[in-house]
Amino acid sequence: MFDKILIANRGEIALRVIRACREMGIASVAVHSTADADAMHVRMADESVCIGPPPSSESYLSIPAIVAACEITGAQAIHPGYGFLSENANFVQVLEDHGITFIGPSAEHIRIMGDKITAKETAKKLGIPVVPGSAGGVHDVDEAKRTAAEIGYPVIIKATAGGGGRGMKVAETEADLEIAFRTARSEAKAAFGNDEVYMEKYLQKPRHIEIQVFGDGKGRAVHLGERDCSLQRRHQKVLEEAPGPIITPEQRTKIGKICADAMAQLGYSGAGTIEFLFEDGEFYFIEMNTRLQVEHPVTEAIFGVDLVREQIRVAAGEKMEFRQEDLKIRGAAIEVRINAERMPNFAPCPGRITQYHAPGGLGVRVDSALYDGYKIPPYYDSLIGKLIVHGRDRQEALARLSRALSELIVDGVDTTVPLFTALLQEPDILKGDYSIHWLEKWLKKTYG
Ligand code: ADP
Repeated sequence: MFDKILIANRGEIALRVIRACREMGIASVAVHSTADADAMHVRMADESVCIGPPPSSESYLSIPAIVAACEITGAQAIHPGYGFLSENANFVQVLEDHGITFIGPSAEHIRIMGDKITAKETAKKLGIPVVPGSAGGVHDVDEAKRTAAEIGYPVIIKATAGGGGRGMKVAETEADLEIAFRTARSEAKAAFGNDEVYMEKYLQKPRHIEIQVFGDGKGRAVHLGERDCSLQRRHQKVLEEAPGPIITPEQRTKIGKICADAMAQLGYSGAGTIEFLFEDGEFYFIEMNTRLQVEHPVTEAIFGVDLVREQIRVAAGEKMEFRQEDLKIRGAAIEVRINAERMPNFAPCPGRITQYHAPGGLGVRVDSALYDGYKIPPYYDSLIGKLIVHGRDRQEALARLSRALSELIVDGVDTTVPLFTALLQEPDILKGDYSIHWLEKWLKKTYG
């Protein structure tokens, strides 16, 4: 086992990893930009190293600075969290060259899944059902028209190098196609420096269901059920729950086994998430994230496991503790993302926290880097915390969420808390009856 791990991240996820390290008796090293000198992850880690100025391109994304921090502190392994360098195959390669262990999958698996066309082809070969669409990239308007005619309208045009919900355009009919195609390409070029796009059938009212997988890198893999992340705004998740309110045990076992078998075949190592759209009882692969997800705590709650601890163990070459037959679901869990954002437009709202009080009690978990007087810097993601509740069933989890939200105090900045309080009054949310378009429609209806 490692003696010391460096966490190449900030905010709540850095804390999450530091906590796992402490429980395992492993020393932790925080890295931070000058804007984060007072951040909680710096205070909580055993050691810290300043790696650069505020912009992430010069700090949290600086591979030389992070490798140097490892060498200075003698950290043997790096946990990347999510975002930043977590899905950067080049980073993993550099670490390998320096004899530092990356806590995550191989550079090759990151590369395969990072390119959406290759990911889809690989998924298909591994027996995972995919959304009907173009075979590879679509290069001009004529090809786009031919492909759309084959798969049938509406279609969605997506960036091969895409991420974060950007560079996607829907064409309802052939009349919209040319503009949609050209816009998607120029947006992809601007956002990812790569204008290659591909096409898929646009599903009308799907749910976003993702399967948590875990592999030991030696051909053994398990699944830990699904999360329903259909509540999205601009393709960004705002609330996640597990198990999925409309997934049957038979559907779970079937898709779970397909995913676990695929990961075993691939020799995948560590935690991963296979994302699907789910419509009329069918699953359609959209992408795989080769890292820990923001919403991993709902899975931890219902399975009673520590995914980060298992990531660290497997990266250290220890035997995977998870066994499919032991992984049993208990109850239901819901996570809400608390962002420093002003409603109704979700405009980032950095600033000083004048008062902070976290909820507690049975079945309540708060993963947050906030404290009284903390100044949220304007440079990074607006996620400032996650509230996760666990109950014996979905109804109890909902009641607990409502109760916990009423205890939470975050003063000084605007947050997404009022959104969740309002959502808990909605019959569709209480019934679990919502597709990926529900939230956008509700926002329009409620705020205009
Ligand atoms: P990103 O990597 O940018 O997050 P994804 O491929 O994961 O992109 O898609 C993000 C979201 O976009 C999905 O959760 C879903 O809401 C929507 N989406 C993607 N593909 C389709 C599709 N074929 N039909 C309908 N909606 C889609």
